[in-house]
Amino acid sequence: MRVTEGGVELEVPGEQTEGVEESVFYNPRQELNRDLTIATLRAFREREPSARRYLDAMTASGVRGLRAAVDGWDVTCCDREPDAIELARSNLERAGFDLGHDAEVVHRNANALMHDAVFDVIDLDPYGTPMPFADAAFARCRHLVCVTATDTAPLCGAHFKSGMRSYGAVPRNTEYHTEMGIRTLLSALARSAARFDVGVTPILSYTKSHYVRTFLELGRKPTAADATLEELGFLVHCEDCLYREHAFGLVPSSDLPRQRCPNCEGDRLLVAGPLWLGSMQDRAFVADVRDRIPDAFETADEGRALLSALEDELETPTHYDQHKLCKNWGLSANAMADFLADLEAAGFRTSPAHYSGTAFKTDADVGEILEATEAGLG
Ligand SMILES: [Zn+2]
Repeated sequence: MRVTEGGVELEVPGEQTEGVEESVFYNPRQELNRDLTIATLRAFREREPSARRYLDAMTASGVRGLRAAVDGWDVTCCDREPDAIELARSNLERAGFDLGHDAEVVHRNANALMHDAVFDVIDLDPYGTPMPFADAAFARCRHLVCVTATDTAPLCGAHFKSGMRSYGAVPRNTEYHTEMGIRTLLSALARSAARFDVGVTPILSYTKSHYVRTFLELGRKPTAADATLEELGFLVHCEDCLYREHAFGLVPSSDLPRQRCPNCEGDRLLVAGPLWLGSMQDRAFVADVRDRIPDAFETADEGRALLSALEDELETPTHYDQHKLCKNWGLSANAMADFLADLEAAGFRTSPAHYSGTAFKTDADVGEILEATEAGLG
């Protein structure tokens, strides 16, 4: 059957049932991901004018590569499945691309290809964890590595051992598990890049219900890799009062992990890490990407709203959930806007966070949040 996405028409096998059955070759639920990728590539090309070669490393139907090619990128689509290659070739040819000249479709193991050829931008969109492809992507890529991870349960600590195996880190299943997932992924990617003397700067990162997405700008020198590793560290989380704090470093510092929670004196403390504790966005870049989303994109409104939220988000390593806090305190939640206004009035910085409607960030600790908001809660 034919589908049209971002103004590009392509053929995909079988019936598409939105959100229920997912074709191996084309997932309609990833349209926002692909629309934002195109807008990000447009913004990145301005930032790095020498960037031209784009690799769609797991191309399947060819939709990502085709959309980038239509946008003027010098595209290589790669897949190890013969059926995918045939489909991607026919989709690019139908769109008028002369394969071998304007664009190429390569039947190969993506890791082998990434070690052999140099690309300016590599896009990893595997089924499940991207980590088996991370080393090869960082080995030679020049400017930007784009990563999707769909294994959200291992990433956020819900499938604990699987997460430790895939990411070489200890994630914890807390009320900010979605953010834990992004920071676990970024940590593992940063450590992979560092092995090649490559530093990474996340310029746009977000999570949706079933995946995590990040864009990493590369700095190909040992000092950039060193600076990247300095963004990693540990989190301590109190399961009783939801207090949390963090410390930078790849080894635990003298005051972390603690034996007792400094807020409630409880001993049910979870330690997570190494996690990416640094910034996950370049705000000016995110604003630029938002401005480049055309009205014609099906997901334009959703994409712009998401990017605006990312721009406004405070840079803290965790977020709070208002309902979880109120439940823990035995109080009824009020409107988020009133709740945040009370915190602001007490002199703290606040912002909503894109993870959910009740997620927020603040520089107040859990005791300070209660003190500032208690009078307004039922
Ligand atoms: Zn506590």
